[in-house]
Amino acid sequence: MDNILQSLAAIVGEQYVSNRQEELYLYARDQGTMDPHPPDYVVLPGTVEEVREIVLLAGREGIPLVPMGGGLVLSGLTIPLRGGIVLDMKRMNKIIEVNPVSRYAVVEAGVAQGQLQSYLERHHPRLRHSIPDAPPMATVGGNVAIHGSGHLSQAYGFHSDMVNGLEVVLPSGEICHTGSCSASPYWFARSPLPDLTGLFLGWFGTTGIITKVALKLYPKKKMKDVLMFVTENPDYVPDVIYRVTETEMAEDVLVLSAPKPDWMAGFQITSVALTADSQLEMDFKRKMMRQALAGYIDDREGGFMFLAPNLKKNFLETPQRSVARYADVNKGGGFEYVGAIMPVEKFPQAYRSGVEIAGKCGTTYSFIVRIIGRAHCMMFAFAYPFNRADKEDVQRAQKALHETNAAVLDMGGIPWKAEVPAQRMIIEKMDPSARQLIGRVKAMLDPRGIMNPGNWEV
Ligand SMILES: Cc1cc2nc3c(=O)[nH]c(=O)nc-3n(C[C@H](O)[C@H](O)[C@H](O)COP(=O)(O)OP(=O)(O)OC[C@H]3O[C@@H](n4cnc5c(N)ncnc54)[C@H](O)[C@@H]3O)c2cc1C
Repeated sequence: MDNILQSLAAIVGEQYVSNRQEELYLYARDQGTMDPHPPDYVVLPGTVEEVREIVLLAGREGIPLVPMGGGLVLSGLTIPLRGGIVLDMKRMNKIIEVNPVSRYAVVEAGVAQGQLQSYLERHHPRLRHSIPDAPPMATVGGNVAIHGSGHLSQAYGFHSDMVNGLEVVLPSGEICHTGSCSASPYWFARSPLPDLTGLFLGWFGTTGIITKVALKLYPKKKMKDVLMFVTENPDYVPDVIYRVTETEMAEDVLVLSAPKPDWMAGFQITSVALTADSQLEMDFKRKMMRQALAGYIDDREGGFMFLAPNLKKNFLETPQRSVARYADVNKGGGFEYVGAIMPVEKFPQAYRSGVEIAGKCGTTYSFIVRIIGRAHCMMFAFAYPFNRADKEDVQRAQKALHETNAAVLDMGGIPWKAEVPAQRMIIEKMDPSARQLIGRVKAMLDPRGIMNPGNWEV
């Protein structure tokens, strides 16, 4: 054990490696319901060469290796289930290049979402990237590794769809580039090559360590507004979404529903973010949105809600800090959700099923739905906050999560960034040839099975 510690120290320097109990304690757990398990070492590499040396060492010694960004995934995917090394990527936080004409940024995988956001605001105020509502320390690498989504996803899809290419350290220690940068100095697209990038997106670090990401950037409009459309019947929501997305004018479309605060209880609130470069453009977009939903207003089945300025301010924020505040509504720092990726028409069924499960399990809940693509699918988050110090509360949340995962799969949805028990449920449901292909790809890339073991095991 001492040899490994010394070898790691020789690679990154003594101050960036630890096997001290107080640090292992922190890296053993996250905010979700998965049981903790400590790593044997924590290491913070500063360069791709250091990552490569660590990967080679882990491979030689057969030590599990778990990459970690912000550690905010909530579903236990950075908990080292079999011990070994946690590779904390936060020191790899350089913004390498912004191409303002072809609109992409090349960043190291440990760059935080908030860091990239403020860098662009300062140096390229007409450009932005799609930001998740996660706390700003979530990393770009960690987010694309789980197919995240954010405030531009309604227009442009999952964050993994916005990746032009990657630099990855393979479990063999080779440094590999995917996308145009594998054959060009420019990181402009994944096409027209065979798409190797997909071998590392959605795999939870089981196929390699992402060290650089080329991310698409988008024009940034000068003003932002948000409209809130309220209905009381979940059966209307798929049509509301259809009408809103049909205008192709909304930027981010969320549907919120929760029993608390009182003003939200019993309603489905569709929040539509609009952006514009002039008041004229904004007025036009607002008018189009009102026109799209006028039928509901005429029939007295729905209406736009007035938002007091202090409340509106919350909904205009990117990321929305109210989401993080809600995560701790029970106090005690526990929060996890089933983020089900599903067809939009499943909203009413998912809504009713979530209310029923929360009632049965006696948990607090909220539903936050993000429309992805022009209503091509949605991420339906069934969120259950809990108090980590209260065992019974944790068990209630665990039960609710388990039942929700099962209900989602029954409805034809797929749990996103699924915790290990839910991964097993997905794998069981999977077409056997797809399951075997996953096994073959993993065995080819990681024959010793050291990369984030326990995850996506077929
Ligand atoms: C309040 C709140 C709101 C949230 N809202 C959103 C949201 O709107 N959209 C959204 O997408 N998510 C959201 N999340 C979920 C999550 O926090 C984010 O997806 C976050 O971006 C994950 O990034 P991370 O750096 O914390 O990843 P981590 O938790 O560190 O890692 C996630 C996974 O990726 C792997 N990984 C990490 N880095 C690498 C790497 N360099 N190479 C290979 N694999 C790697 C890890 O092993 C793990 O399997 C939210 C979370 C909270 C707490």
